Amino acid sequence: MASLEQYRSKRDFKKTAEPAGKAARGKKGKAGGIFVIHEHAATRLHYDLRLEHDGVLWSWAVTRGPSLDPHEKRLAIHVEDHPIDYAPFEGTIPKGEYGGGSLIVWDEGTWVPEIDPAKAMKKGHIDFELKGHKLHGLWHLVRLKPRAGEKRDNWLLIKSDDAAARPGEDILKEAPESVKSGLTVEESARARSRKVRHSNKPTTGKAKVPAAGQLEFIARASRSSTRR
Ligand code: MN
Repeated sequence: MASLEQYRSKRDFKKTAEPAGKAARGKKGKAGGIFVIHEHAATRLHYDLRLEHDGVLWSWAVTRGPSLDPHEKRLAIHVEDHPIDYAPFEGTIPKGEYGGGSLIVWDEGTWVPEIDPAKAMKKGHIDFELKGHKLHGLWHLVRLKPRAGEKRDNWLLIKSDDAAARPGEDILKEAPESVKSGLTVEESARARSRKVRHSNKPTTGKAKVPAAGQLEFIARASRSSTRR
């Protein structure tokens, strides 16, 4: 069974609202599952691609985000497995904590590997289909040969040249919003911090995340107040 030891050792769950999670039992004889892409406004903005496998989410930090252009090869740093519970997570990790900054669910759906994903992972070449709101069609994840002294596990994320490819387009600019709340990462962070400031309830336990409707209202209000 996959392990979340590395995931847990990096985080203090008294300080971050991220789920501590559990490695779920992997589904026997079933490859693929859910996928999610978190836009993560950490010290450096990046997009975390997560693919369900064997009860956890395989994760890559895609520094410049996914591209629908097959000529664009995007660096994807393989990072620690995340719990399945992490998939719907949106929130702000406090400054100074691991990954400090805000996250939104930029896209979600299901993924279908072309071959046994465990074998593909070992080989360092995963061909798969995405069925999301924003991302569709075939994709490739290809592991790079480590250079001397390279500590990171670097891969490339590349769109396959198929019917879902859109050369020259920038999906990150065209569709920047959360598929859950409709807000950009900046808007949802702003709305959340306002909500916390205006709340008169004692803040015990985990921070309460406002409902999507509320967030949209707050963001719209803040947008119209800054427009002159
Ligand atoms: Mn991240």
